[in-house]
Amino acid sequence: MRLSGGPLSQFTFEATNACNLTCLHCLRDKSGARHDLDLRLVDRLLSEGRPLGLHAASLTGGEPTIHPKFDDLLDLLGRHEIAFTFVTNGWNFLEVYPKLARYQERRLLAPIMFSLDGATPETHDAIRRPGSFRRVMQAVSACHAREIEFTFQLIVNRLNLPELERFGLMGALLGAKALFYGLILPTPQALDADLVPAPDDVRRARDTVARLAHALSCEVHSTPTFARARPEMDCPALRRSVLNVDCRGRLTFCCHLSGLVGASDEDQDIIADLNETPLEVALERLTDRIAEFHKARLRDLAQGSLGPTDDFPCQYCQRKFGKLGWMAGYPTSPWTPPAAS
Ligand code: SF4
Ligand code: SF4
Repeated sequence: MRLSGGPLSQFTFEATNACNLTCLHCLRDKSGARHDLDLRLVDRLLSEGRPLGLHAASLTGGEPTIHPKFDDLLDLLGRHEIAFTFVTNGWNFLEVYPKLARYQERRLLAPIMFSLDGATPETHDAIRRPGSFRRVMQAVSACHAREIEFTFQLIVNRLNLPELERFGLMGALLGAKALFYGLILPTPQALDADLVPAPDDVRRARDTVARLAHALSCEVHSTPTFARARPEMDCPALRRSVLNVDCRGRLTFCCHLSGLVGASDEDQDIIADLNETPLEVALERLTDRIAEFHKARLRDLAQGSLGPTDDFPCQYCQRKFGKLGWMAGYPTSPWTPPAAS
């Protein structure tokens, strides 16, 4: 088999596109049909992936814990000895966490990632749902009681921009193993609600987070949405260490490109339908697409054809994958690429 590039290590499974919240900054298009990941497909992919080095999984959504067979999904991961985590809004964690003990005992449970979008209930609940900050705090208490490790992911937006240090301190004091700072990506709803900060404010926020990383006792990371793009772009998807499988069973280029609200249905990021394509074949296609991406990036660098916000890696990718055409309707937004305005 011809495979080059980074080491394969982890699946990201979009367990479902359904969610129990309706956050103002949500990236996912929920206007279509609900899809829940087929467990028979997951079973097959775990079998095919293990010899290739895929030994871990992260469950995302939507809200992964509302997959109708969430318990069976965890059992399946356990049967394949797959270390896993999931990204959750924490709303129903008190129902979920008693089921985690058996995986924790077998050291298959990686730190749970809670979405937390502010250092105060007012800030977090304003874009998620009243009472959701409290639910996350209850979830953290449950984690402490069972010694379950956890992390927080904050999506930087205009409301929480003044709270980044306070959030960091709170996360460290609450015992988070790591803090992840991401950036809200423009969507029609986020722009209409004036939630997307100005690019220069985000650039300053990057410096704040970099300083925090030195000051706090826990790990601090910037996700690719928030980080500064290097000339040769680098992230788990481009390193091909993480494979994103969407809720319909398709291998996609990256979770930040698929199922986006506002984007037209040009599925340039869909690599293969795994329901009918062996993983090995899909991986060969992905490897070729990543190589093409890097070549196109080199051309852009050589020709100086980067846009004003292309120092944000995911913004650059979304533009290159034709996901930002809808932004022509927002000609005054500083995030609108010149070609779209
Ligand atoms: S941001 Fe996450 S928790 Fe909020 S609606 Fe979207 S998928 Fe659900
Ligand atoms: S959108 Fe591009 S830069 Fe962002 S995480 Fe995905 S592959 Fe990486």
